[in-house]
Amino acid sequence: MSKLMGRQAAALKPYVPGEQPQDRQYIKLNTNESPYPPAPGVIRALSEEGEGLRLYPDPEVRKLREAVAQEWNISPEQIFAGNGSDEVLAFAYMAFFDRGDPVYYSDITYGFYPVYADLFGLRGKEIPLREGFRLEPADYYGLDGGMFIANPNAPTGLCLSFDEVEGIVKANPDQLVAIDEAYVDFGGESVVPLISRYDNLLVIQTFSKSRSLAGGRLGFGFGCPEIICALNRIKFSFNPYNINRMTAAAGIEAVRDRAYFQETRNKIVATRERVKGELRGMGFIVTDSHTNFLFAAAPGIGGGTLYQKLKERGILVRHFAKPRIDPYIRVTVGTEEEMDAFLQAAREMLREEKEG
Ligand SMILES: *Cc1c(COP(=O)(O)O)cnc(C)c1O
Repeated sequence: MSKLMGRQAAALKPYVPGEQPQDRQYIKLNTNESPYPPAPGVIRALSEEGEGLRLYPDPEVRKLREAVAQEWNISPEQIFAGNGSDEVLAFAYMAFFDRGDPVYYSDITYGFYPVYADLFGLRGKEIPLREGFRLEPADYYGLDGGMFIANPNAPTGLCLSFDEVEGIVKANPDQLVAIDEAYVDFGGESVVPLISRYDNLLVIQTFSKSRSLAGGRLGFGFGCPEIICALNRIKFSFNPYNINRMTAAAGIEAVRDRAYFQETRNKIVATRERVKGELRGMGFIVTDSHTNFLFAAAPGIGGGTLYQKLKERGILVRHFAKPRIDPYIRVTVGTEEEMDAFLQAAREMLREEKEG
């Protein structure tokens, strides 16, 4: 560490992203990317954007916000675009909290929530999930601080109903309720329609998963115009050009091609259900995923061992060495062929384990 580093930077525990190893070809099922390429229009738009790169992008990203507004049936004033939804999350931490404020999230959820709490000097408070990783909505009623809830949750894959989320929003009229819908397209119910009725709701989505644009870095915040205005104050104090030209162009095409979006999403959901059934048939415990990943524990093999053995076979999954979820691995739903390779490896490992 540099002797010049500030005390705060030295004390941080940075987020650890899933591996992106370059040493060999893996079947990559560890970071919830889409196994399918972006829509054909995205690739076309990118090849046409080159000349424009000499100019700064539109800091208001108006065309992109208009395209999204049309698809979601809301107004562009209710939309904020971020460099990935991680940036929207970070700006929300900066816009709606002051140093020392409490901020709530569950004990098992997206790893960035506590990292941002630390970075921005907030008091992160974990609310334990109940038995079976169930999030009890009443645990979030009447809190004395804002909250971040991933719905569907990661890495459990479970989700709350529309009414349950609305109950939480209603029960905290003077606190920010941020609902992170990174996986909503795979089986959750979005609460974006509620942003016109509640001034304390921020819904966050990403194009990284269901729109095949993880490498483009594009996420959105949806809320009442005052919420969006607050996010813009942070953005224009930090990086007005947070969405580059290529990503804006890609985003517009990704939104417009509704048929391609539905086709790839439906394929992923169908593959997920098939693999879930097969894993359960092999004796795995698998949660009822509403996402593009499966959260599964093998009979008689720990999560860490499973992760390691799969890696040796060229298959990357994610393991979290954390209390309660240590026995589990998180497996991104890939193509049918990738998942067949995963299932075959899992079957072989179970057999080896039995033969001792
Ligand atoms: C993947 C993910 C994100 C981050 O998405 P980006 O848009 O790629 O930054 C945010 N929240 C959850 C719960 C995620 O799983």
